[in-house]
Amino acid sequence: MPQHTPSPRVCRDCDGHASAMVTTGTRHPDGTRATLRVLCPACKGTGHRVPAAGLARVGR
Ligand SMILES: [Zn+2]
Repeated sequence: MPQHTPSPRVCRDCDGHASAMVTTGTRHPDGTRATLRVLCPACKGTGHRVPAAGLARVGR
């Protein structure tokens, strides 16, 4: 497998920050900000590189 780049164990999509808290701008009645927790779709919130299923693309 010709891969010369050192493979970090962190997800390339999110740089390890798998879940980000996004403020929606709205506030709850108690005054706290309504936040959404967004998980990185690439690593599904783990922050780690996940081996892609079907990594071996042969032919084509
Ligand atoms: Zn990620």
